[in-house]
Amino acid sequence: MEGVLLDANENSFGCVIDAFDALELNRYPDPSHKTVREKLGGYLNVPYENLFIGVGSDEIIDLVVRIFCEPAVDSVMILDPTYGMYKVVCDINNVKTISVPLDHNYQIDFQKVEDSLEENTKVIFICSPNNPTANVINKDSVLELAQKTKRIIVIDEAYVDFAEEFSLTYEAVQLPNIIVLRTFSKIWGLAGVRCGYCITSKEIIGHLYKVKAPYNMNKLTSAVILKALDNVDKKEELKDKIIGQREFLLSELKKINGVIKVLPSQTNFILFEVKEPKDVYKKLTAKGIIIRDRSSQIPNSLRVSVGTENENIKFLEELRNVL
Ligand SMILES: *Cc1c(COP(=O)(O)O)cnc(C)c1O
Repeated sequence: MEGVLLDANENSFGCVIDAFDALELNRYPDPSHKTVREKLGGYLNVPYENLFIGVGSDEIIDLVVRIFCEPAVDSVMILDPTYGMYKVVCDINNVKTISVPLDHNYQIDFQKVEDSLEENTKVIFICSPNNPTANVINKDSVLELAQKTKRIIVIDEAYVDFAEEFSLTYEAVQLPNIIVLRTFSKIWGLAGVRCGYCITSKEIIGHLYKVKAPYNMNKLTSAVILKALDNVDKKEELKDKIIGQREFLLSELKKINGVIKVLPSQTNFILFEVKEPKDVYKKLTAKGIIIRDRSSQIPNSLRVSVGTENENIKFLEELRNVL
């Protein structure tokens, strides 16, 4: 903003940290996120009018539930096992969740969806690649679901950069009821910054900008994101390293006696099965190796994130000891 700015009760003298003067932190940020949306749009090849920026994908999940669902009246469908945040957000907003199991291949079970869908079901969350099963949900089946149900379909693509294909970016711009959710928390290595975005119709973008907190994205975040978008090559480098380590972990895990099953992965984590998951989890934790116990969702399952080569070697070593 240019001119003599005396409208917002800001501190015209500057902020208390001289080193940050260039960022003009004494002034409120741009509520429309124009600069970041334009640059991000250029990177994604999506018009900026079809982009919304949130404080992590978590904020966008919350906004979508609040925009489309009337508390105590409407419901949200979740395809389990999946990311826990969808249900947490619904619970907090007093919106009922309908849990429909994915089929034995962790794909959409159309019969079960149809049987469980209620008139007041307003939103269906699909995570692809799915957390914690690490597989891609068939793209055509997602589109079929969108077309058949006419509900708002949120397709969470937090891990899409680790997958070989998939992304409904194009469809999210063209169709009225698809919201593609993305994040800077995973492949970009910016989980600490809290920045996610979505791609959807201009109409839904309009609702999101009306409902969000006015200054949800702060100037430090936008400075970091603009810088990140100048470093796409580095992101590709990280991707190659992570995928390389993922393939290493997959092949090593399969060799370990006591590992019953290793699921293929299109993400930066691996789901594997052991006989005594809680015991294995505890013993690894005692050794300082922290993974995730997913056995309440999928019997016998543990989830491990792909780490650096050293981290992965340590994890494998301790796992071999425990088993
Ligand atoms: C990690 C993750 C996210 C990222 O959430 P942020 O709030 O953007 O950090 C989103 N969806 C899924 C399924 C995830 O696993």
